[in-house]
Amino acid sequence: MESVEELSNHAPCMGAEQVDPTVIAETNLDCALPYLNHLQPGLVETLRQPKRTITVSFPVEMDDGSVQVFRGYRVVHNRTIGPGKGGLRFHPDLNLAEVCLLASLMTWKCALSDVPFGGAKGGVVCDPKSLSQRELQQVTRRFVSELGDNIGPYTDIPAPDLYTNAQTMAWVYDTYDVMHSGNNNRAVVTGKPLSLGGSAGRTEATGLGCFHATERLVENFQIEGLKTLKGATVVIQGFGNVGAVAAHKFAEAGAIVIALSDSQGGIVNEAGIDLDAAAEHKREHGTLVGLPGTLSLTNEALLELECDVLVPAAMGAQICNHNAANIHAKLVVEAANSPITPAADQILGERGITVLPDIVANAGGVIVSYFEWLQNLQNQSWELDEINSKLLKKIYRAVDVVIERWQVLQAEAPAEPEELADFPLNLRTAALVIAIERLAEVVEQRGIWP
Ligand code: NAD
Repeated sequence: MESVEELSNHAPCMGAEQVDPTVIAETNLDCALPYLNHLQPGLVETLRQPKRTITVSFPVEMDDGSVQVFRGYRVVHNRTIGPGKGGLRFHPDLNLAEVCLLASLMTWKCALSDVPFGGAKGGVVCDPKSLSQRELQQVTRRFVSELGDNIGPYTDIPAPDLYTNAQTMAWVYDTYDVMHSGNNNRAVVTGKPLSLGGSAGRTEATGLGCFHATERLVENFQIEGLKTLKGATVVIQGFGNVGAVAAHKFAEAGAIVIALSDSQGGIVNEAGIDLDAAAEHKREHGTLVGLPGTLSLTNEALLELECDVLVPAAMGAQICNHNAANIHAKLVVEAANSPITPAADQILGERGITVLPDIVANAGGVIVSYFEWLQNLQNQSWELDEINSKLLKKIYRAVDVVIERWQVLQAEAPAEPEELADFPLNLRTAALVIAIERLAEVVEQRGIWP
């Protein structure tokens, strides 16, 4: 392992490939195409475009009395299997192409996890860290009112994502409920606070599911030098909802979490980080950086640390063609959505690094969101044990079918291997093939209207 001092001096990732979300979505779909020749011609093409995109602009009166205009998006990628489902993201760099990519990931994720939803995503272009709670509430409420009846319990159901949380979802619910009084509207949004019809286990679901998926993969897939999580070294980028829960689960399983980060930088201790102390330090200082007993490093250097399992759990496109050759993990687990670009995917594959794709690794969130939706429609409240055991079954099943399909596709590789030279067969492709086949089956059963 390089010394931490050396790593912390690494320059930030410069000169990376142009990361275009549309190209990422297209390339991943293209990789699956050679394995989908048996489907109705043209069917896969319908999945390239979102079903519906909505862009809204709205004014909000700020605390200082000025008026600021915000832009928001809501995209439904596909509704073949059920209503649209997907998170709301508040971030200054959000754009429509990215929301379309994220909505398509939700389509694949729901199909793969056997959750009866289609894919959707949305958000507001804003810097939530610079907004007061009152301003955030105004932004949320006005955004939801602009969306009007384009969201609803049976049409499109939002949830939390980057820089939104249970409080944001409570405002979404309240705004919709005021606009539709007299109904049971709880199922319009998931990830709500428990007292408002939220589900036990929803906050932890994505991190927990990510851990279970990793555990299952490590047990059942041949990863060179990684047979168990016990004693495995783990590096996690992002210490928010997903990253923090995943970190605790890995540590509970006997893994050693050696590095963590947030938007301000990373910390490392090769003997293992005290996670409770890290959480306390972040609460007190707003960042992990400076935690006693750890050394600081940049987020870029953190990704390049030698470890068994690397878990990007923050932003998209963190591993690209510029740094993929410097990744020193045996397994990369995509807790975040789309943290690896297609070019990086290829480089990691060639270097024998396994990738557990996002549509498996972070499906726990939408699975428990589905449980929350069911509870809301039935006015029920399930026990945490019941929820977690149902989650475990669904996650294990998703990992198992992806491994099985990968093995089958590998064995049936076409006679002309050069045909696939640019499209390496990895777990992402196997997962996508299953998801698209499931969608195709439902399209065939329903027929294409009219
Ligand atoms: P969060 O807002 O709770 O936490 C995000 C974390 O990332 C924070 O620690 C933040 O400091 C860090 N971060 C932000 N910018 C960074 C940067 N440039 N470099 C390094 N770290 C940075 O968000 P979350 O809910 O934990 O979501 C994390 C990822 O997981 C996102 O990609 C999201 O789409 C994905 N995801 C979340 C859920 C869910 O249920 N919350 C479900 C599926 C997928």
